[in-house]
Amino acid sequence: MTDKYTTETITDVHPWTDSLFSFRTTRDRGYRFVPGQFARIGVPGAAEGSIVWRAYSIASAAYDEHLEFFSVVVPNGQFTSRLSQLKEGDPIFVERKSYGFLTTDRFQQGRDLWMLATGTGLAPFLSILHDFETWEQYDNLILVQSVRTQQELAYEDLIQGFDKSEYYAEFAHKLRYVRIVTREPVPGALQDRVTKLLASGVLEENVGLKLDHDRSRIMLCGNPEMVEDSRKILVDRGYRLSRRGEPGHLAVENYW
Ligand code: NAP
Repeated sequence: MTDKYTTETITDVHPWTDSLFSFRTTRDRGYRFVPGQFARIGVPGAAEGSIVWRAYSIASAAYDEHLEFFSVVVPNGQFTSRLSQLKEGDPIFVERKSYGFLTTDRFQQGRDLWMLATGTGLAPFLSILHDFETWEQYDNLILVQSVRTQQELAYEDLIQGFDKSEYYAEFAHKLRYVRIVTREPVPGALQDRVTKLLASGVLEENVGLKLDHDRSRIMLCGNPEMVEDSRKILVDRGYRLSRRGEPGHLAVENYW
């Protein structure tokens, strides 16, 4: 243990596809984060005693005793190729500090919380969806998950299971879940890119809610081009990025 990080243990690894997996680690009792934030985690590097660090959004709830992360294996990536070899019982390092501003405290008022994710950018929204205050605060929570293939719809069962959960069932009617699968047709899912659906108004139609300056608060996370293009579409329509001490309508996080 050092001042900067703690040594945790991997407690579970869950593969979703050949290149997508989730893993859980133990959590230091002193570790604090706000849902939507990311951790910096480290794995042993190639050189003896070295550690390679990366930012990872936390997918688990703020109250969970463990930490959960959702990862893609980047081909030849120094970090994820190592990470994907790790197994239950292996050590992993977690910086004591948590980071990032993709948090609902960036917003004031607002009735509808829109969360637009591509790929592993879903992770922070899973944490936010386990935050009771968010369910209480908003009339509608809209989660849009865009992936390439049906198999990549990770966490679909968890998301669709809020209405059966002992703790969340009373709120679950507020959730509108839109699946986008871009590279194959899937019944019930949209197939165009989220940016196109946003620009054309088809996303709003599908959700059954209009974007609105007073009501809507929008979070974007995932592919950096998706985040940038969506941000532009929304800024052109008069939505403002939230800044420190200046709450707006938008909060964004690039995922790599
Ligand atoms: P992805 O390519 O980001 O695709 C996920 C979804 O986002 C797909 O539906 C995709 O649609 C859509 N999308 C991609 N670009 C978009 C854009 N500009 N506007 C709107 N929608 C867009 O898939 P991924 O599996 O999350 O990541 C792909 C690769 O990115 C990985 O294999 C990896 O190499 C890299 N990556 C790196 C890191 C890292 O930490 N370094 C993290 C995540 C991903 P389409 O099917 O139309 O493309």
